Amino acid sequence: MEFFTHPEFDSHEQVVLFSDKTTGLRAIIAVHNTNLGPALGGCRMWNYASDAEALTDVLRLSRGMTYKAAITGLPLGGGKSVIIGDAKKDKNPRMMQAMGRMVEKLNGNYIIAEDVNTTDDDMVNINTNTAHVVGLPVSGKGTAGGNPSPMTALGVFTGLKTALKFRTGKTDLTGVRVAVQGLGNVGFNLCERLHAEGAVLTVTDIDTGRIQKAVDQFGATAVGLDEIYDADAEVFAPCALGGVINDATLPRLKAVVIAGAANNQLERAEHGAAVKARNILYAPDYVINAGGLINVYYEYLARITKGVQGREEDSVKHILSIRETLDEIFTRAQRENLSTADAADRVAEGRFLFPDNGWDKAA
Ligand code: NAD
Repeated sequence: MEFFTHPEFDSHEQVVLFSDKTTGLRAIIAVHNTNLGPALGGCRMWNYASDAEALTDVLRLSRGMTYKAAITGLPLGGGKSVIIGDAKKDKNPRMMQAMGRMVEKLNGNYIIAEDVNTTDDDMVNINTNTAHVVGLPVSGKGTAGGNPSPMTALGVFTGLKTALKFRTGKTDLTGVRVAVQGLGNVGFNLCERLHAEGAVLTVTDIDTGRIQKAVDQFGATAVGLDEIYDADAEVFAPCALGGVINDATLPRLKAVVIAGAANNQLERAEHGAAVKARNILYAPDYVINAGGLINVYYEYLARITKGVQGREEDSVKHILSIRETLDEIFTRAQRENLSTADAADRVAEGRFLFPDNGWDKAA
């Protein structure tokens, strides 16, 4: 298996393979970049078809976390870990404790968090052997932490309003039509906030119970899974799946703003330019959905400073700064004739590649 010539290798600082015979743990931790601080990123458990597939995933995901951490303005780098195995069959508390021992060996260079197929219970087990973990029960009243989804929704809501204002000049959501795809933890909370400020909602989900709740509580119009792309809306908010901005869906969208929580919304990188060509303002996913990351960082801060720092109000304030970050990205995209996706990457790179130059000068 190639490593330094691997297509997803991007000067990663550290990639470590771990195994534990007793529990059957096989894991890879990738630390992409720590110029701004320790690498924080989730631990994904997946039944990879091969070790090579696991390596590809961890290299790609850890790089993405560097960009996300840098753009949020947190003193964090990017990392990720993967555990190879079937979460339903292979996972057990002792395996997670072993994972904690592995994380501890990195001496705080990597902070582990939940991801696909890992839970807060897993983080508690990991915590038996390392303090470098987030996603634990909140340590005190007024302390940041807990379920990150409402915080992610707050960031998306703020970002959606920022994008709407930049694109249309509107500062009031009254009567603004928003199409929300996915009414899960983030999407439903987003609908609640939008409805409270007078937005008119069109929604879809594979779960008809959630749709009915949105119809009852917010007077939303329900449409079929595929019909959401044709909704007569100014804003499209993807809050379910990745890859939904693509050649097939883009010509159907009537929205002038795309602002939602889903990861990897653009099917391919070139869809960033395609969105721009249609005069749609896209709020880059990893910027607008960073509320959860910001929240877990403050949770970590609260724990390591024994509550001196890491207040919930500071976390909320930081999440609301997604507004300024998006404004910076949109302005730069306009000035340099870039897609907003490319502008976001450049702002992030300016921060983590040249931290000594000062972020603003570098960006
Ligand atoms: P969730 O699983 O709670 O909700 C997803 C919802 O989408 C579910 O209600 C599901 O039924 C629905 N769905 C699935 N397939 C669909 C389809 N084809 N069409 C319409 N709806 C469909 O997840 P979540 O925590 O709300 O996260 C939503 C998205 O935001 C995900 O892409 C996630 O990766 C991303 N995200 C979440 C967070 C967070 O803090 N939860 C943070 C960053 C990014």
